[in-house]
Amino acid sequence: MDPPSYTSPPYPYPQPPPTMPPPMMPPPPHTVHVVSTVGFGKESQHMTCPHCHASIATRVNSEANTKTHLFALLLCIIGCWCCAPCPYCMDSCMVQKHYCPACNSYLGSTEN
Ligand SMILES: [Zn+2]
Repeated sequence: MDPPSYTSPPYPYPQPPPTMPPPMMPPPPHTVHVVSTVGFGKESQHMTCPHCHASIATRVNSEANTKTHLFALLLCIIGCWCCAPCPYCMDSCMVQKHYCPACNSYLGSTEN
């Protein structure tokens, strides 16, 4: 009696796929967000208001911004109490905000 042959042929192992080198990815395109705002200066500026479309000269308000407060705080910390309000008097530490005199819309600002 021949013993039944259980020897199965070796299972053909699937060949692992050849390791492909990663494809050369082109560098992602540099997305430049162009902000299409008019560059506002420190002075009032003649322009057409985008809100009411009136030809206006902007009304400029000098307002303190975060940097101004920080600067004043810094002066307090280093002991220049008398100089602390100075940043609020210095145009270079303020932000100039432009408003439309016709519709009072905020148009933009310039920061130093
Ligand atoms: Zn306006």
